[in-house]
Amino acid sequence: MSFSRPDIIRPPSEWKSYFLPLTSGCSNNTCTFCAYHGSKLQIRDVADVKGEIDAVALFTRSGIRVPNIPGVVYAIAQDWDGKRIFLQDGDALVYPFPKLREVLLYLNEKLPRVERIGTYATPQDILRRSVDELKELRQLKLGIFYTGLETGDDELLQKIGKGVSSDQVIEAGKRVKDAGISFSVTIILGLGGIEASKKHGLETARVLTEIDPDYVGALTLTLVPGTPLYEEWERNEFHPLSPFQSLEELKSITENSSFTDCFFSSMHASNYLSVRGKLPQDKARMLKQLGKVLAARDASLLRPEFLRGL
Ligand code: SF4
Repeated sequence: MSFSRPDIIRPPSEWKSYFLPLTSGCSNNTCTFCAYHGSKLQIRDVADVKGEIDAVALFTRSGIRVPNIPGVVYAIAQDWDGKRIFLQDGDALVYPFPKLREVLLYLNEKLPRVERIGTYATPQDILRRSVDELKELRQLKLGIFYTGLETGDDELLQKIGKGVSSDQVIEAGKRVKDAGISFSVTIILGLGGIEASKKHGLETARVLTEIDPDYVGALTLTLVPGTPLYEEWERNEFHPLSPFQSLEELKSITENSSFTDCFFSSMHASNYLSVRGKLPQDKARMLKQLGKVLAARDASLLRPEFLRGL
């Protein structure tokens, strides 16, 4: 079966990157809230990946377009500053290790101006690799992993089909940090609905503190049609938080977590309010901002529902 190029789903901070698919779908396609639920994982041939790298290298050097290379390659490459690459798709770290090394070596050779390569990585993908293997990837400029913790609440992790415990995510984070790779962790506000909100907030703060990542990105749950969680909501078995309840959760997580040096934000388009800052130094300011909005309970201070994105 020929490889189908995935749509671009990326962390907000990778907006300037070139998007290079190694896989399509996600190897852990069981998360009940996620658009990748039930997706079929496809692994792209190394030769095909190298062909795209050759085309991008030639195009960025001389503007020449190679026949049979899809237009999207040039659409991305024409505005690209040559510095960052994001490997697609849902968990490109699942790409078999020897092939990943081969692709990274090739990228380093053909596009030497690249400064950093990033990827989504599940905790399971990370735990399959030793610290030495991760260090090898780091040497080849794979410099940041984006990993979904989603929640630190073990009961909820199991319920949403994440396939890992909070201890496993903590161990994965330790390996990433030991390898010198930046670690960016995503959490999802409202994931447990009204009933699990308090525990979700407190347990997420506990696990984030233990991981002590470089970046935390908070998203707000958006129910995606066709996912099991959406169907639970249709059956009235899942009770979503109101926008202000989701901000209460964000406040609880900010208040109860502690970090050495972390950029913490809710800048993603799914959120009702954008809060950002370096922790620990900006904690008081961020809590004050949240406290003010929560006290005012004024919906005009929030991103309107129709402007929220996935
Ligand atoms: S591991 Fe991540 S990308 Fe894969 S299904 Fe779960 S949330 Fe989605």
